[in-house]
Amino acid sequence: MSKRLYIYNTLTRKKEAFDPINPPFVGLYACGPTVYGDAHLGHARQAITFDVLYRYLLFLDYKVRYVRNITDVGHLEDDADEGEDKILVKARLESLEPMEVVQHYMNRYHLNMASLNVLPPSIEPRASGHIIEQQELIVKIMEAGYAYEVNGSVYFDVNAYHEKHPYGQLSGRKIEDLLSNTRALDGQSEKRSPLDFALWKKADPAHIMRWPSRWSEGYPGWHLECSAMSTKYLGMQFDIHGGGMDLLFPHHECEIAQNVAGYGKPSVRYWMHNNMITINGQKMGRSLGNFITLDELFAGDHTRCWNRLMVP
Ligand SMILES: [Zn+2]
Repeated sequence: MSKRLYIYNTLTRKKEAFDPINPPFVGLYACGPTVYGDAHLGHARQAITFDVLYRYLLFLDYKVRYVRNITDVGHLEDDADEGEDKILVKARLESLEPMEVVQHYMNRYHLNMASLNVLPPSIEPRASGHIIEQQELIVKIMEAGYAYEVNGSVYFDVNAYHEKHPYGQLSGRKIEDLLSNTRALDGQSEKRSPLDFALWKKADPAHIMRWPSRWSEGYPGWHLECSAMSTKYLGMQFDIHGGGMDLLFPHHECEIAQNVAGYGKPSVRYWMHNNMITINGQKMGRSLGNFITLDELFAGDHTRCWNRLMVP
């Protein structure tokens, strides 16, 4: 193969020649959208970044399995363990079933991706379709001694993990800095440390997206789905994991910890991150309200879009 691919690997902070684990096969996983609103330019940037990579790998004659998930449960409002599920909030606002919200925005996401000429992935797994796999991973992590149960919820024990494995390697964060930058637990918290994160959350009575488990009726933590689904479809070790820079911490750091804790080894050879689209120096994000949807973009009234965003 005369042409080579070089990847900037976030884990080593170096540009490295790409050598797949099992050539000619390549496993590629990218974190997909949480489907509770229309896709915006930030989603387009990520999708196009990994579409270019996918197409180039195909051009190099690799046999690529490209997995891009759909998050349809477990992504809470603060991107950690607090607040309500983003999809449930939207469902209540619009008087819809949560799965109606998911289907609606997933269909629109697919239409937007087709308009951008982004190729569909080989497999598009949904978190709600992999509850069993996520529960199995929790059991493995608990058996290894890196998770604990409190009142029907299960949390990953970051300090226990960090005693044996480095936590923070991917994002370059130090555990002492993380601790000093985190609010102390208020005595109400079920967690042993503010750095711990939920693997399983017991559902409140009003929470409708819930599944039975040995711990409680509840739902999985957001980070867990990507560990469980990437392992299911790409194996315990695979080549490339991608996502936006905003997912580097905590999402991807937690993914690594879950895989090492559950399966005994890190899963990913090359971590790749695309940068963010910014507006006035701030990340474009749905929760920040400073976004242009792809539908607005395709409708063509660009001046109105930019004016809305650029006015201080
Ligand atoms: Zn993910």
